[in-house]
Amino acid sequence: MSGRLHARRTDRVVKNVWVEFTNLAADYKAVNLGQGFPDFSPPKFVQEAFCKAVNGGPLMHQYTRAFGHPPLVKSLAKFFSRIVGHEIDPFEDILVTVGAYQALFCAFQALVDEGDEVIIVEPFFDCYQPMVKMAGGKAVYVPLRPKAEGKGVLSSGDWVLSAEELASKFTPRTKAIVINTPNNPLGKVYKAEELQMIADLCIKHDVLCISDEVYEWLTYDGVKHVKIASLPGMWERTITVGSGGKTFSATGWKVGWAISSGHIMKHMKAMHQMSVFDCATAAQEAVAQGFEREYELFGTPESYFQQLPAMLNHKRKKLASCLESVGLQPIMPEGGYFMITDISSVKVDFSDQSTEDEPYDFKFVKWLIKEKGLATIPVSAFYSSEHSKEFDKYVRFCFVKEDSTLDAAEDILRRISQ
Ligand code: PMP
Ligand code: GLN
Repeated sequence: MSGRLHARRTDRVVKNVWVEFTNLAADYKAVNLGQGFPDFSPPKFVQEAFCKAVNGGPLMHQYTRAFGHPPLVKSLAKFFSRIVGHEIDPFEDILVTVGAYQALFCAFQALVDEGDEVIIVEPFFDCYQPMVKMAGGKAVYVPLRPKAEGKGVLSSGDWVLSAEELASKFTPRTKAIVINTPNNPLGKVYKAEELQMIADLCIKHDVLCISDEVYEWLTYDGVKHVKIASLPGMWERTITVGSGGKTFSATGWKVGWAISSGHIMKHMKAMHQMSVFDCATAAQEAVAQGFEREYELFGTPESYFQQLPAMLNHKRKKLASCLESVGLQPIMPEGGYFMITDISSVKVDFSDQSTEDEPYDFKFVKWLIKEKGLATIPVSAFYSSEHSKEFDKYVRFCFVKEDSTLDAAEDILRRISQ
């Protein structure tokens, strides 16, 4: 096919780690600790809310308001005003999107101009980099580094940003910084002091902060999630991204949102109305009902935002002890769905393969799926090509899975380690 028949902006984004490894896992019927989705049902109250919405009359099956179904933007505004400490306007300050993905896409398209620089903290959820590039921006990377290199780093909290290094990345062309807390894939939850350091730089250089908080309810061992938008001077310049799929264990509903000041949001709305225009009505209604319930139960043991992390904490510990028992050292996540581990102690010989350019962790994950029937995700996919070589000995395990799935994974790992 002639190169005339497509736009060059797609050239480097055709290959995608989720498509590749989700297909491979399905082809080999592997035990799937790869892609991040629960293999159990969402809580009854949101399933019932969805059924009620579907049976709720003709309008539930038609278009709703373009920028968000009114009951959903109202319940998001009510819920998050209390947390951010700022009166959020449901109609000005919120945009409902097709998952957090589309909120991120609208943010980059609406806010990044040709030649703008966007600082991305590594390791990063993989879509940030291509989305910045597709908007014509330049991604500038700053790494989280293990504090005690070589001394057996055990917690995602030991991975930190250097304030000096971060400051050195800000230039007159910097438009935005992207952070993700709790982080995918590492599980780092930024402390208030770390967020304050980032906020100070954003304010000093008049820069936006895109804060991906899709795992905001999932923190462990008493670690607290802090919203950077709640810090002084940050509401006006932060775009907070959330996901109904992650919030209510219903990733297939694809309801997400962005919350920001109306003066930023109006540009994101422009992108949204020119791409999807509006999102599925019944799914938005169900998420709205979920937030209404959580508003009433907030902070109580019946709240799903307490119950889900409690359930996942058990799974996190189960996976960590399984990995330790087979000689793999996990980095204990403070938050999120995922755990990464160094796999260099598992000796596999790939020297006969004609895939020299492929990162080690990609080869390892393919071997694990094809030969052993266990799917995970290679961690170098969460790094820029400049740095992926340094981090190609880790793989990511997802633990938002039934105990039986985790047991099946454990059986496979035990057989490998024997
Ligand atoms: N951000 C992060 C950090 C993620 O892990 C994901 C995957 N769920 C998304 C955004 C996209 O979320 P959604 O499924 O709501 O589009
Ligand atoms: N966020 C999920 C993960 O990290 C799913 C990503 C995707 O399917 N594109 O596994």
